[in-house]
Amino acid sequence: MLDILIKNGIIITMDDDRPVINGGCIGIEGGRIAFVSGENEPSGRAAAVRVINAAGRIVMPGLINTHAHTAMCVMRGYADDLPLNKWLFERIFPAEARLTEREVLAGVRLGIAEMIASGTTSFSDMYAHEPKTAEIVLECGMRANLSNGIIALGDEFDFEADRATRELRSLIADWHNAGNGRIRADASIHAEYTSPPWVWRRMHELAAENGLITQLHLSETKGETEDCALRRGGRSPVRAFYDEGILDTPVLAAHGVWLSDEDMELLREKGVSVSHCPVSNLKLGSGIANASKMLERGINVSLGTDGCASNNSHDLFEEIKLAALLAKGSTLDPTAVPAYTALKMATVNGARAQGRGNETGSLKAGFDADIIMLDTDKPHMRPLYDAVSTAVYSARGGDVALTMVQGRVLYENGEFKTLDIQRVLRETEEFAVPVVLSEKA
Ligand SMILES: [Zn+2]
Repeated sequence: MLDILIKNGIIITMDDDRPVINGGCIGIEGGRIAFVSGENEPSGRAAAVRVINAAGRIVMPGLINTHAHTAMCVMRGYADDLPLNKWLFERIFPAEARLTEREVLAGVRLGIAEMIASGTTSFSDMYAHEPKTAEIVLECGMRANLSNGIIALGDEFDFEADRATRELRSLIADWHNAGNGRIRADASIHAEYTSPPWVWRRMHELAAENGLITQLHLSETKGETEDCALRRGGRSPVRAFYDEGILDTPVLAAHGVWLSDEDMELLREKGVSVSHCPVSNLKLGSGIANASKMLERGINVSLGTDGCASNNSHDLFEEIKLAALLAKGSTLDPTAVPAYTALKMATVNGARAQGRGNETGSLKAGFDADIIMLDTDKPHMRPLYDAVSTAVYSARGGDVALTMVQGRVLYENGEFKTLDIQRVLRETEEFAVPVVLSEKA
């Protein structure tokens, strides 16, 4: 007996063998996809506990956000239109220093609610309070790769005593692979400019010992690459990490805006995934990553929102459309990053970047049932000549009618099934907002 049968759907599988099925059904059992069929209903009349009629809906894989600082959504709209250094050092860092666990966790819930409602089923996070975040992710039914980016500025630094290391050890011991594999611990080096090479090597050892992916920020701004060259004998951040052996274990690098041809070659050689964050890079005036060139070179490029203080949204549909448009506009080539490629970045490539390439990101038998549905009964979603084009160029996060992870429905027709949205909104206002606003005199 199936747990769920989805029938009559326009299915975008993201499986290259048959990417789109115009009128098909999906059987779900034990949290996994039992079959994807090209018939509107299964011929054998498979019995199911629940049947979902997806007529008029696009059924597709859940989206994967490969670079987030989820809790930062409590600072959404708090500091906009500022130069990066002023934004970071005068507004964001001081506000972050005031946040305690209570406010951070309110932000995590708010961010997860936003992601669920806009079709994201898995995210890669880099922030503090990650073991507690794991608890919330499990509770909400989401999937996440969690990390705390190590920052070691100044001469005195105790690697083992540092909060990032302690949180990583706790994630490994208590949360890695919890919830049927929904949670994964990732190692993390915040960036080339926030810690010395000996700290990178220690973090890399931890990643290697435990078979973890390492998340980092990489070549985000022009200034970062110029300063690195001055500090490290003309080397780029990519070259510096490469020379220290940091790229010898799987790495998920956010941004990659300022990459030379040599940098791209090193990333390709080491199989590094790059999380393209177009909205954040534009908003902070950092530049435009050359996603089409990276893809051509064989680099796995996925998509991320970055933190909500520099976006100000977790709606991955914006990133998908923008990734396609920026590639076209910046290369003067309208065939660059076609719709299907852009959607792959947010699904298949994202899963690969998270080390979940055999688990999620496309709809095929044996994969986890991480599925979303888009409502097409709206003016901006019609006519529907090509489901992939509609999903990439017309859809918005608000068109998501259903979100499911491992066969569990988390959101349906505007209703959250795993969190109390009124409480989430109230706690954001009551806990987080006053703290963000309480600047010292
Ligand atoms: Zn970031």
